[in-house]
Amino acid sequence: MSFDINDIVRPNIRKMTPYSSARHEFSGEASIFLDANENAFGSPLAANVNRYPDPLQLALKEKISSIKGVPPGNIFIGNGSDEAIDLLFRIFCEPGKDNVILYPPTYGMYEVCAELNNVEVRKIPLLDNFQLNLDSTAALIDDNTRLIFVCSPNNPTGNSIDKTDIETLLNNFNGLVVVDEAYINYARQKTMIPELTEYPNLVILQTLSKAWGLAGLRIGMAFAGEPLIALLNKVKYPYNISTATQQLAIEALNNISSVNNWTKSAVEQREWMAEQLCQLPFTQKVYPSDANFLLVKMENARKIYEYLAGKGIIVRDRSKVILCEDCLRITIGTADENKQLLAALKIYEA
Ligand SMILES: *Cc1c(COP(=O)(O)O)cnc(C)c1O
Repeated sequence: MSFDINDIVRPNIRKMTPYSSARHEFSGEASIFLDANENAFGSPLAANVNRYPDPLQLALKEKISSIKGVPPGNIFIGNGSDEAIDLLFRIFCEPGKDNVILYPPTYGMYEVCAELNNVEVRKIPLLDNFQLNLDSTAALIDDNTRLIFVCSPNNPTGNSIDKTDIETLLNNFNGLVVVDEAYINYARQKTMIPELTEYPNLVILQTLSKAWGLAGLRIGMAFAGEPLIALLNKVKYPYNISTATQQLAIEALNNISSVNNWTKSAVEQREWMAEQLCQLPFTQKVYPSDANFLLVKMENARKIYEYLAGKGIIVRDRSKVILCEDCLRITIGTADENKQLLAALKIYEA
């Protein structure tokens, strides 16, 4: 298969001239900036936010590059992963014509973005073991299929998707395979970042919202070949990441000693919680998890959800979701929070 990204870009995107900001056009050394109609006198904040931010976030990309081992030219930074997901639809999917493939149950934003962009969704439920149905995938792909979303570890099932299956897609599909690794830090299975050099149709999404403890900052990353990164940069809002966010993210990434400890604790707590939850009389199944949450099947999950909410403990009710009947998705909290959850469940009377 010979994959050329230009074959699947929407014609209007290929043709358009991107907005060229003042900071884009000049990139040398200068000391007087009178090119962007900013307030040269200052800002009410101590931070230098009277100036526009770096539209390409180069300092932050250098930092991410050194941590992830991906060159800056293969990194896109978005306002959460959600921005990258939306841009992929807008760049590659012609509304009312093209289609994408999703494997429910999975992360809700893929379908939301598809509907928002008027793009047909072809849903192929995961198999009973929560793995991909490759036969159905082959049957449903047609000349207008542009994107396949694979969430691994998957939200809300928690399992990793078999790498060999993802590689089968990459080798046979003439569109983009988007692998969402939001929970990769908690997984036994390794990131697919090393495969980027091999597959021009691979896009990997990661985020600072989960293991990195920065959900409030809104930083999502897409790793891909340079031609795809160039397209994302062409279509994004020119100043999509604020100066404050860029600075705080760099500061956070310079200070990551606790992150590894938190991840280790979350994994330990996850395994302990899985054992504890199994022992409750109304628990039917605790699914194995490679993420920082557990999917738990319980008798009358909705009632348990409401009982917990009444005690001020909020979990995620997934009982109406395909293949998740009577399931709650429970995020791993601190040891203390987890104990409080268990204590509440132990006195629950079905
Ligand atoms: C939480 C989550 C994200 C993170 O999205 P952000 O917009 O980066 O906060 C992405 N994908 C999945 C599957 C998630 O569960």
